[in-house]
Amino acid sequence: MLSFQPEFLYSSLPVRVRFGPGIRGETAAEVERLGCSRAVVLTTPGQAAKGKALAADIGKLAAGTVALAQMHTPVEVTQEALRAVEELGGDCLVALGGGSVIGLGKALSLRTGLPQIALPTTYAGSEATPVLGQTEAGRKTTLTDARVQPGVVLYDAELIRSLPVSVTVASALNAMAHAAEGLYARDRNPVSTLLAAEGLRAFRDALPVVCEKPDDLAARCETLYGAWLCGTVLGQVGMALHHKLCHVLGGSFGLPHAETHAVMLPYTIAFNAQAAGSHLEPLREVLGMSDIGQGLAEFADRVAAPRSLRDIGMKEDDLERAADLAMTAAYWNPRPLVRDEILTLLRIAWSGGKGVA
Ligand code: NAD
Repeated sequence: MLSFQPEFLYSSLPVRVRFGPGIRGETAAEVERLGCSRAVVLTTPGQAAKGKALAADIGKLAAGTVALAQMHTPVEVTQEALRAVEELGGDCLVALGGGSVIGLGKALSLRTGLPQIALPTTYAGSEATPVLGQTEAGRKTTLTDARVQPGVVLYDAELIRSLPVSVTVASALNAMAHAAEGLYARDRNPVSTLLAAEGLRAFRDALPVVCEKPDDLAARCETLYGAWLCGTVLGQVGMALHHKLCHVLGGSFGLPHAETHAVMLPYTIAFNAQAAGSHLEPLREVLGMSDIGQGLAEFADRVAAPRSLRDIGMKEDDLERAADLAMTAAYWNPRPLVRDEILTLLRIAWSGGKGVA
């Protein structure tokens, strides 16, 4: 495995991570450890009952629940949640959910300085990053700030067993995308490469088991472990074309976040494979195939992932505009970006076709 580098920079933020089925039962102890006594549990509206159950479990250290989180962290939702947290007199935030809830926790923490405890229920990985995406007037912007990284993360595989298989698969490929792009990041380091390789391995082994037996706790644990590793890579190193394209497709065309990552992954990594060269070796090893695009496509088929942009709601007429948007705001990619090549890539991904742009 090619993780050695003669020169690198490594830095990480202080985080306390606990793993274990049922570890959510330790939330009250973690609230107390932070010196807090009025925890506010955050969820999406759909998961409100689970938020109430967690607040009941936290007991006298819980101030209440706020079930307002929405995808892409709209600023007006954050403002409403801020008022609710203030009314409850909250002194720490407990985010129970996927990237949408954790995003709300980050946005509130940025504005209030309140400490965060995250209990992730998807594999998106936001809990492991100092990155916050917010949407205002239909425009999504991203900031990186150490203050938004949750200081405590409790990974409880029992919580993720209820994630429907189709969402599980898309979310897992979303996580794998962080690791895949982390392998060729310009600012990668030997630790991020090891984390990426192990995260990819964990999903390769455990995701097919979860697809067959969504209740299998050991396999759910291993996928959650993979999510932590892949999320940590996302938090440590810069992403490239794959993440940029998904950001454009989600932000400007309303495509679902995790599904977009799932569709694009085999195409974008194949697009970059030659230019990234040996940096992608750990992924080749995990897939057991030298043709990385084919290997990812076969894995995606095996777990019945969505395979075309058309199937997840992209209009063919919008592809040209998506290619234009992907060329705005310069960013680094191992393969130099040419607008018409991006358009070809998008066309292939739209139809779910074979081949490399
Ligand atoms: P999500 O949080 O929106 O969850 C998707 C749906 O699944 C929601 O309806 C949710 O209620 C439901 N759900 C979540 N967990 C469940 C469970 N265990 N059982 C049943 N249903 C459950 O989706 P996501 O993909 O986790 O997050 C996407 C958002 O997170 C996007 O806004 C994305 O930009 C952001 N994100 C940010 C970062 C970062 O580092 N800042 C990283 C990844 C994702």
